[in-house]
Amino acid sequence: MKSKKPAKRFYRKRVELFRLIEKIKLWPARSGLLHGIKFIDLMGDQARITTHCNKIFMVNNSRNSRAARWLRNKWFNGACGTCGVPEWKLEKYASTQFRRHYGSQLLKKNKDDGVL
Ligand SMILES: [Zn+2]
Repeated sequence: MKSKKPAKRFYRKRVELFRLIEKIKLWPARSGLLHGIKFIDLMGDQARITTHCNKIFMVNNSRNSRAARWLRNKWFNGACGTCGVPEWKLEKYASTQFRRHYGSQLLKKNKDDGVL
């Protein structure tokens, strides 16, 4: 028997990029590879991302950025081998759906989101 599929989870399409990557800890590089995120250092409207393969870069907290769109649309071509993204994390991501009118907005102050 195959192991149970992870439960579907729903996030809003308009969720803030930083909330989203804090939650899923994945980064879609332009190359098409998904990297695992090791650290996110928030600095106002920007954040410094450190991947498990030790790439460091700054990103803006934009819902409409390339990365935000790629994450929502799940545009990627496999996971970074150096990051060693575990299979369960990819499955969890695959079961995550983005909806316009339904799902968590990942606001930390909202206890109902289970984010606290
Ligand atoms: Zn990587």
